[in-house]
Amino acid sequence: MTGNPDAARQGTTPVDASAGQPATELPSAVVAAWRRVLGEAHVLTAPEDRATAGQCTFPAPLPQAVLCPADAGQTRDCLRIAHRHGVRVHPVSTGRNWGYGSGCPPDERTVVLRLARLDRILGHDEQLGLVTVEPGVTFGQLAEALGQRSSQLLPPSTGAGPSTSVLANALQRGLGRGPYQDMASHLRRLEVVRPDGSRLSTGPGPGPGLTGLFLQGGPGVVVAAELWLHPRPRVTRSVVFRVPDGRLLPGVVDAARRLLQRAPGGVAVSLWNRARLAAQLLPAPRSRLPEHLDGPWTGHAELWADDPRMLDLIYESVLRAFAPYADHWDTDDVTGSVAAPGAPGLPEGAARHDGAPGLASAYRHKPGGPLYVPAGRERDPDRDRCGVLWFTPQLPMSGARTDAVLRLVERIMTDRGMEPCLALRLGARDLRCVTGLFWDRDEPGADARALECRRELVRRCARIGVHPHRPVIGDDLGDAGNAGSRLLLDQVASALDPRGVLRARPRRGAGR
Ligand SMILES: Cc1cc2nc3c(=O)[nH]c(=O)nc-3n(C[C@H](O)[C@H](O)[C@H](O)COP(=O)(O)OP(=O)(O)OC[C@H]3O[C@@H](n4cnc5c(N)ncnc54)[C@H](O)[C@@H]3O)c2cc1C
Repeated sequence: MTGNPDAARQGTTPVDASAGQPATELPSAVVAAWRRVLGEAHVLTAPEDRATAGQCTFPAPLPQAVLCPADAGQTRDCLRIAHRHGVRVHPVSTGRNWGYGSGCPPDERTVVLRLARLDRILGHDEQLGLVTVEPGVTFGQLAEALGQRSSQLLPPSTGAGPSTSVLANALQRGLGRGPYQDMASHLRRLEVVRPDGSRLSTGPGPGPGLTGLFLQGGPGVVVAAELWLHPRPRVTRSVVFRVPDGRLLPGVVDAARRLLQRAPGGVAVSLWNRARLAAQLLPAPRSRLPEHLDGPWTGHAELWADDPRMLDLIYESVLRAFAPYADHWDTDDVTGSVAAPGAPGLPEGAARHDGAPGLASAYRHKPGGPLYVPAGRERDPDRDRCGVLWFTPQLPMSGARTDAVLRLVERIMTDRGMEPCLALRLGARDLRCVTGLFWDRDEPGADARALECRRELVRRCARIGVHPHRPVIGDDLGDAGNAGSRLLLDQVASALDPRGVLRARPRRGAGR
């Protein structure tokens, strides 16, 4: 908190330079107005608070201040004040958007609106399979609440672990496990506050759907979301297969497309290259993977059903699809339990008490490696200075096209001394190529190398029409998408956010 009376008399609240970034100023009247709404303790402007809020897995701007409203009404009032004074605001929920910008704003002349205190589960309809959550509700909290209510609904989960926001993950088009692949597709209704403080509700009804307008940085702050959840499957099976030759990859992708278009039931398939699997599983960067996982690519299929006979049918179709490409095959049955794989099984020595094993890869280059978990603490890649950046294009489910793009990605990364860590999340028509750049932020020069590498990935892939599906803060999406729809979205953003409080559209021509 700042309380510099001299500055207040001069009409601005100075915010000290931190982490080598220039100081920025906020009009004192704005800070005072926010303090009247939220109370002193929930308007953070002190350098140490800003520095904590600005922790990230790569060099990122510090916020000018952090506002922590307690409910939707306070959120509306904060936005109204920002709107009146033309102050730019960036909403985050839990601020754990690791590898995409964590809780940081896109630039330093921006105040972060942190909604973690809005953490109520507002609705739960067991019969319809619906829950309504506020932004601060985490995956862990939702799972616990459903468990306490003996719910038969499957709690969603992602590799980022239990401490991240369900609502924010869905807004960012995050990727879940098992039946939850595209989290955004589970959104049914959003409660939105516009920058001028007015409210609207998207959701089922006649006419064009509006939910999509508010994904990935739309012109509104989402204060609640209704999501539909899958029933908990009675039986699940995890299948891991080794692909012994990289040249087989196009065939595997095409086989997965045929399988997923015709699959008789629940199945999700991903492919991991050797480096990505090692980043997830190995105690030290240079150790070898266990032999059954040590192929250029490893496939992982998650199967679920309510009836063991149905599961066997699905399994047979998976076997038929991939057996021609696999030289090693492992299955693991889990009966009457939650499907929560995501990464092929933990190797010997893995830290089994780890609350977020999916985060291991962020620690790939840290002393201690991916399996190291700080004693008595949860993983936190920001705090632990893990370097992480993602480049996640969406590609058509074509083996040839995927192969061509992957070769380019691998070349760009290896030329810049970065290890290409690739995970392909396959769908019936599209796949997401989750490219991870991992490094140790304490290694001199490594930040700059990683940023340059990602910039080059974005630039060179854009030339062949391939763009990130999920942006990193400050990304310049250039000419991604169709010119007509870009124009319309800009017009809609200008109408809903005329003062650019949320700067709803990504910058073009000035990217990270
Ligand atoms: C090793 C590793 C593994 C990961 N695995 C996965 C994975 O399997 N799947 C996956 O999806 N991600 C994964 N992540 C990425 C990321 O950590 C998660 O997606 C996480 O859920 C996002 O953080 P958050 O929920 O705290 O979102 P926040 O940081 O709170 O929000 C993210 C962004 O969403 C927007 N936003 C948030 N709240 C609002 C709101 N209320 N109104 C309007 N806009 C809002 C803002 O643009 C904000 O910057 C992984 C990261 C790492 C490092």
